[in-house]
Amino acid sequence: MFQFGRNKNKTAPTFYNGYCYSQVGVSDNNIYLECHEKSRQRCSARGVKNSESPVVSLTKDHNHGQNYDTEVIYNFKYQLYHSVTSSTRDLRLIYNEISIRHSRASALVPYISITRTMQGWRRSNCPPVPTTMEEYVRLLNSPRWRSCFISNSSNISAVNINGTDGSVVTIFIDATLLQNFIRVNLYVDATYKVCPRKPYKKIYQFFTIMASFDDAVLPVAWSFMSRNKVYPQVAPHLQVLSVTTDFELGLRTLLPSHQIIPAFKWLLTVYSAFQPAFHQFLQYFQSYWLETVKPENFSVFGCLEKTNNYVESNNRRLNVEFGIHPCIWDFTKKLMELYERSKIELESMMMGLPIRRQSRLNYLIKEAVLIRAWDLYNNNVLDFKHFLECTNKFLTIFENDQGLLSVDEVDTFINFKIQMYIAINEKLYIAIDEIENNVPEHIIFIHDN
Ligand SMILES: [Zn+2]
Repeated sequence: MFQFGRNKNKTAPTFYNGYCYSQVGVSDNNIYLECHEKSRQRCSARGVKNSESPVVSLTKDHNHGQNYDTEVIYNFKYQLYHSVTSSTRDLRLIYNEISIRHSRASALVPYISITRTMQGWRRSNCPPVPTTMEEYVRLLNSPRWRSCFISNSSNISAVNINGTDGSVVTIFIDATLLQNFIRVNLYVDATYKVCPRKPYKKIYQFFTIMASFDDAVLPVAWSFMSRNKVYPQVAPHLQVLSVTTDFELGLRTLLPSHQIIPAFKWLLTVYSAFQPAFHQFLQYFQSYWLETVKPENFSVFGCLEKTNNYVESNNRRLNVEFGIHPCIWDFTKKLMELYERSKIELESMMMGLPIRRQSRLNYLIKEAVLIRAWDLYNNNVLDFKHFLECTNKFLTIFENDQGLLSVDEVDTFINFKIQMYIAINEKLYIAIDEIENNVPEHIIFIHDN
C-alpha cells in the first residue's frame, strides 16, 4: 500500500478526516491532492489544501468510506522502514520495539504479514547473511558493502587465514593503527556469548586483542575463529601443569596451537608494520607455550598482571554493546564502532590526555598479591595445587568475591589442605583430591551442547 524507499522524491501522504491523499501538484500556497485509493478503489476524489492548514477541501467526492487506520498503519510502517534501513538490528527485535508505541497498527499488521517487506527493505542496507566465513569476508570487502561498515578513512583489513585442518580464522586488524604501538603487552580476551547467531555453528569464539599504550590498554585487533574440532568432555589422561586464566584459555583456543605460529608469521609477512607490535608476543608464545609447556600440555601460567582487569572490562563492554548472539552484520557494525573508538582514544592518549580512571586500590592489591603468588610458584614454594587454591581466592574469573586483602595472606597457602575441585571458569574445572592420591585428577570441560 505504501511503498517506502522506491521513489525517494515522492512526498509523504496527507491524512485528513479518515482519508489518505497523495500530492499531485503545488502552486503558490496550494497543494493539490488525489485520493490514495485512486487505483485500488478506482476512487477519483481530488482536493486542495493550504500548505499552512491540515484541512483538505474536496473538489470531487470519494466513492468509499473513511478509514482512520490507514494513518496509524502508515506511521507504524514508516517507523519500521526507518529503523530497518538505518540499522542492522534483528528485524524481529525492531518490530517488537516499535510495535509497543503503535499498538493499534501492530495489531492490524502482525509481524508475519510484514516480514518479507522488512526483509526487502533490509536488503538495501545490509548484505545477505553469509553461510561461510569466506563469504562473510568477501561480502564485507566488496565494493557494494564495504562502505556500509567501514569508513573510507579507515585502514582496517578483514582477512581470513585458513588452518590446515579446515578451520578458518577471520582477523580484523589495522596496520597503520598498530604502528603507534612499539613496545607492548598484549592481552587476549575470548568470548562466545557475543558470537553472531549465523553462521552460528561455524563461529566458535570471538577474540579481542588488546595492546598497552602508556598506562592504558586499547583493543587493537579482533578475530573470529571457526569451529574446527570438539574437545573431549572429560580428559582424564591430561596432566595439568598449571592454571589457565581466561587470557590463556583464550589464546589456547585462538588457534590450534600448531597453527598460531604460522598464522602470526603470515600476518607479519603481509604487514611488516606488525613486526614490532607482535614480536614480543610471538617470542613469549613460542618460547613459553610451544617450547616450555608443549602444546599437548594445554595450559600455562604466565599471565600478565593486569590481564583480568582489562579482559573483564572488555568482556563486559562486549556483552552490553553487542548483546547475546547478534546478527552477523549488526555485530560487524558494532565492531567497527569499537574500532573507531579505539582510534579516537589512541589519538587522545597521544596528546597526553587520560582516557581511563586510575587503577582502583583493589586492583593494585590484586596485582601485588598475584605477583607474590607467582613468585612463590616460580620458586617452587607454592606447588601447583596450592597456587591454584591461592589464586582461586582472588581472581574474579573464579567468581569468588572473598579476595585476599594482603600479600602476607598468600604465604598462608603454602601448607593449605586442598580437597576440592576448582572452577577455572564456568566451563572448565580441575578436580584435585590431595587425600586420595595427591595429584590433580582430571579436567572437566562443560560444553554448550
Ligand atoms: Zn477515495
